[in-house]
Amino acid sequence: MIIVVKNTCEQSQFDNLIDWVKELGLGVHVSRGEISTVLGLVGDTSKVDIDLISSLDIVEKVQRVQEPYKNANRKFHPEDTIVNIAGHKFGGNNFHVIAGPCSVESEAQIIEVAEAVKAAGATMLRGGAFKPRTSPYAFQGLKDTGIELLLKAKKETGLPIVTELLSVSHLDLFKDVDVIQIGARNMQNFELLKEVGKTGKPILLKRGLANTLQELLMSAEYIMAEGDSEVILCERGIRTFETMTRNTLDLSAVPALKDKSHLPIIIDPSHSTGIAKYVEPMSLASVGAGADGLIIEVHNDPKRALCDGAQSLNPAQFASLMTKIKTMLPIVGKDYDGK
Ligand code: PEP
Ligand code: MN
Repeated sequence: MIIVVKNTCEQSQFDNLIDWVKELGLGVHVSRGEISTVLGLVGDTSKVDIDLISSLDIVEKVQRVQEPYKNANRKFHPEDTIVNIAGHKFGGNNFHVIAGPCSVESEAQIIEVAEAVKAAGATMLRGGAFKPRTSPYAFQGLKDTGIELLLKAKKETGLPIVTELLSVSHLDLFKDVDVIQIGARNMQNFELLKEVGKTGKPILLKRGLANTLQELLMSAEYIMAEGDSEVILCERGIRTFETMTRNTLDLSAVPALKDKSHLPIIIDPSHSTGIAKYVEPMSLASVGAGADGLIIEVHNDPKRALCDGAQSLNPAQFASLMTKIKTMLPIVGKDYDGK
């Protein structure tokens, strides 16, 4: 971190600032210029309150040269993280497709979809049991029964399951869940992030509707600071002025996050577009961008889905997309599943 101090300041104010920085356990490198003096802070500046320093009268500006996240930072962990999900390696050169309905609706529905996505080559099953709906009157999910049905589908198909946790009070129900999803609306629910970080389970962390990539990495940092290094990031579209798609898919999140972090990054083309026929082009674009996987909504009867039918593929559309994804993977140097 660099602090630019105005040369008009009193020596005592300057000394006080230096003492304060040293009390934070940091070293200071002073470089005097004609108009201003530059202080280079040496050490772990992640806990320094940049706004507090900026607010001092004697300070011209403050600039971070080091990111405020450590565990998620590629600088401190140059190798890609490989998350282990029930024996599947996620990250690195391995590509995965997680597929399933937006919500678990019945035993017949989840088993039928699980079998269909498995037959098409999905490596994991998604399905919401607790649903974060905009309206309190919309279908809220089958809750504990939904988790039981997902576990049944896992038993039938062998597919690991990915499902969203909305509240710490439900955590006991997630013991046998393979991947805990933290949805867009909870990306900055810091207490929830700390609690899932204590589980040590793989966590699928979705980007918030209006959050920057740095904020996403800071949320990953919350989980990792609790000792859980198994975090998968997910870009699922953000709010912009555009209304022709449900959200705007920020595909540049893939190279940007790969540059800054060693964590795997996947794309959700379903929630980002909101329209089933846009899912295939954006899935293939995600492969091209270097994503480590996709999470795709698939329903056995999209027209009758209780949630997100308009963006759900039917099993035939999903199978056709899987063939195209597998054809593209060698071009980007990825193996499918790669167990
Ligand atoms: C979901 O995956 O079903 C979901 C609600 O996603 P998001 O949190 O990205 O809206
Ligand atoms: Mn959905």
